[in-house]
Order: sequence, then structure tokens, then C-alpha cells
Amino acid sequence: MTSSNSNPPRQLGEFAMIAKLFAPLAANDPGAFGLTDDAAALNVPSGQELVVTKDMLVEGVHFLRDDPPDLVARKALRVNLSDLAAKGATPKSYLLGLSLAPWIGDAWLARFAAGLADDQKRFAVALIGGDTTATTGPLTLSITAFGTVPSGRMIRRKGARPRDAVFVSGSIGDAGAGLAVLKGEGVGLSDFDRSALISRYQLPEPRVSLGPQLLGLASSALDVSDGLLADLDHIAKMSEVRIAVDAAKIPVSRATQALWGQGPDTVLRAATAGDDYEIAFTAPASDRKRIEDLSRTSGVAIVEIGRVEAGSGAHLLDDRGKSIAVPRAGFTHF
Ligand code: ADP
Ligand code: MG
Repeated sequence: MTSSNSNPPRQLGEFAMIAKLFAPLAANDPGAFGLTDDAAALNVPSGQELVVTKDMLVEGVHFLRDDPPDLVARKALRVNLSDLAAKGATPKSYLLGLSLAPWIGDAWLARFAAGLADDQKRFAVALIGGDTTATTGPLTLSITAFGTVPSGRMIRRKGARPRDAVFVSGSIGDAGAGLAVLKGEGVGLSDFDRSALISRYQLPEPRVSLGPQLLGLASSALDVSDGLLADLDHIAKMSEVRIAVDAAKIPVSRATQALWGQGPDTVLRAATAGDDYEIAFTAPASDRKRIEDLSRTSGVAIVEIGRVEAGSGAHLLDDRGKSIAVPRAGFTHF
């Protein structure tokens, strides 16, 4: 069987690849010098500071050889933009590290660069540099993204206080459901629901415009990448508080319910699945109204799912306030 990405040879040399495919992506940031220098220069307006994040993606772990190259590129960029958004930062630019596997050909690289070009426009960011190597191992790529916040204002995981309320954007579990569909679950699911869930897995929607609007509102925040409960547990630890989440309030989409059903097991699965790239945050309960307004003006659903209390850990509660046992709160690599 031949796959869509099988061995079209790589003919572009390293520098031709950079000049032809990547330099155009650097055109909008003068500090990138057209990718013709040893380094880029970052311009940070006074009163602002840089927020920096990095995510690595490995073939076979985060994506598969047959995944569309443009989607691999866009997901790699978007997971980084999601980290910046959760910190209240406005994204500006990024570096790209590539370790190219033998099966990567010119056509794959061109489609990869085209995916980056699309998302650069959409999220107003520019490529400013990177590094390229070849390997006999799996394709590995790494993006380091830069954003800005007013100095000292980055929203931390630390900062949640007892009596704050807990909020989450969008819906939880769709990406996990999409992955389950790709692995063969969901026979009988409508084509509409299938493709909605798969695209939530392959192409997350980072909350880039919402994030900076949480400055001055959120007392703590993070992006949900490993599973809602595992991630809220990070906030609980860093803030030295207990986080109580009402299972019934976790926003689970109709498509995910169509796949997994409407019961409590679905909520548990959704809240531990990961790859959501939504923002979970805490804020004073008295700011509830401001958050409702923000949800309306930003067009991003934000729902209140629980509260911060004295104590420790993140806990999932049923509708009588009883703790639901969580066998595995989220994803870990090892
Ligand atoms: P050096 O050898 O000085 O580290 P390189 O030859 O690795 O420089 O890179 C030349 C230029 O191309 C630099 O501006 C670098 O940032 C850029 N570059 C190299 N690889 C990539 C890549 N994968 N994506 C974007 N820019 C890249
Ligand atoms: Mg280099």
C-alpha cells in the first residue's frame, strides 16, 4: 500500500529550502532579516515584556506520517499560541526547529509551509528563524513562540484564591472524542459529527483573542492540554488551594455526547481526555457578570464550572456534592 506521503525525494537543499519556503513567512517581521542572518532581533515596546513558550511534536506521538502536512504545521503553531493566550499574551512571532526524517520530501515541506502561511495570517504572527537538521529517526518539530504582555502582568498558574470561581472556555472533550473516532470508535456517528470531532483534534482553536482580555480579570489561568482535571490540579498545586468542579457544569458538546452518550462516564472521559486547548481560569465570583459580558463580546462560550476553596487538589463532584473517583486525571508522556 502506498501512502500519500511516501518518499517523494527531497531535492531542495537546506539553504534553498529556507530561502524558498521559509523566508516568505518571515517577510512581515523586519527583525527576522529575511532569514539571512545568524539571529533575529525582537522589538519589545516599553512597558511590555516577552512571554515565551515551546512545544515539541514527534511523529508517532503527536501526529502520524499520513496526517496532512498543513495540519501538522498549523497544530504545532496553534498549541504554542494557546499557551501564550492562557498567559494573557498577544502572540508576535515564532522560531521553528525541524529535524527532518528521510521520508519527508519537497512536496511535504511545501504543504507544511503553506499551512504555516495560512495560520500566520489568521493569528498575525511571523516566523523569525529556526534551525534545520536531518535524522534517520522520526520527524520532530519544535516551535518556540513569543508574545507580549504589560510588564509583570502575565497570568500565572499561581494566584487562585478561596472564593474565586472557576471558568472554562469552549467545550471540553471534543479533541479526545475526535481521536477516539480516528481510532475506530463511533461507527454509526453522523459524518457531520465525525468531522467536527476530528477537526477539533487535528486543528485546535487557540483562544488568542480571549486570552489578553483576561488580564486584570483572571487570578490564575492555563490552557487545557493534558486533561481539564489534570490541568486544574496544576492550578490547585501552584495556588495552594482546592478546586471543586461540578461534573454537570463541564461543557460537553452535542457531538461528543453523540459519540459517548450523556451519562457521567462521558463527563469523566471528557475531563481527562486532553488536547482541548481551551483556557481554564479562576476569577473572583463577584466578577461573574464581567465574564458573561466578555463571553458575549468575544463570541467565545465561557462557563462557570466550580469554585476555589481552602485545601488541596482538583476534585470532580456529582450533583449531590460527592467526590467522583477519577482513575487517571490526564495525559503524561512518561
Ligand atoms: P547558523 O548556522 O548561523 O545557525 P543556519 O544556517 O542554521 O544559521 O540558518 C540560517 C538562517 O535560516 C537563520 O536565519 C535561521 O534562523 C534560519 N532557519 C534555519 N532553519 C530554519 C527553519 N527550520 N525555520 C525557519 N528559519 C530557519
Ligand atoms: Mg543555526
